[in-house]
Amino acid sequence: MRIDVLTIFPELVGGFATHSLLGRAVASGQVDLRVHDLRDATTDVHRTVDDAPFGGGAGMVLRPEPIMETIEAVDPPRPVLALGPGGTTFDQATARRLSDGDGLTLICGRYEGVDQRVLDHVVDEEVSIGDYVLAGGEVAALVVVEAVTRLLPGVMGNRDSAVDESFADGLLEYPQYTRPSSYRGWEVPEVLRSGDHARIARWRRAQSLRRTLDRRPDLVDVRGGLDDQDRALLAEFGLTDPRTV
Ligand code: SAH
Repeated sequence: MRIDVLTIFPELVGGFATHSLLGRAVASGQVDLRVHDLRDATTDVHRTVDDAPFGGGAGMVLRPEPIMETIEAVDPPRPVLALGPGGTTFDQATARRLSDGDGLTLICGRYEGVDQRVLDHVVDEEVSIGDYVLAGGEVAALVVVEAVTRLLPGVMGNRDSAVDESFADGLLEYPQYTRPSSYRGWEVPEVLRSGDHARIARWRRAQSLRRTLDRRPDLVDVRGGLDDQDRALLAEFGLTDPRTV
């Protein structure tokens, strides 16, 4: 998968990409990450990428030429995404869709943002990572890169990790425990130590349901609520739907 990132802080993005799973995927060639410094596309001595907004007001806006000229020079993969608080909220379904393609391009804004003509003419989608305002798109771009690349076949150490985890099935993940089985008097649930794999699977499913009902009832609604099997599972472990008690 090829991923191009356009930024005025290339070392921020490049540095992040040398560590952990992403670092390994880049080193092994599975991910072809190309970071482009927008200042390389400027011609003036100050390497200016921004200018004051037409119409007045605070702050500066990224000029269109460095972005457009970089895109034309490197012919980056589609879709071209611009990071911005006004975009569609990034989620696991979007991460999956992007990981099924062969590449993507991320444009990181700075200051007050990017000249609207870039968004109108070369950007396929605007993506937000949440309802808050960052100082720049780099951290948001890295969120997208990490969420997408860990789904690529062979990037995550254990392939099953992506099957079981939060959002995979529209539910949050069940609680996880490791050794020691008793720590400061805090016990790991007995069922997980029982060796009864079918019961463990049912317990985990029930915990996922209960946790999602508690914390993210909106996700349960999206799935169409609980069915009889879900209710039976909750009942088996003495759990209830917090909305009906
Ligand atoms: N003036 C803009 C905010 C600009 S923030 C507004 O009010 O909408 C500067 C840059 O940070 C943006 O161009 C974008 O690339 C990035 N950014 C800020 N918040 C973000 C978010 N929630 N998600 C993704 N990118 C964000």
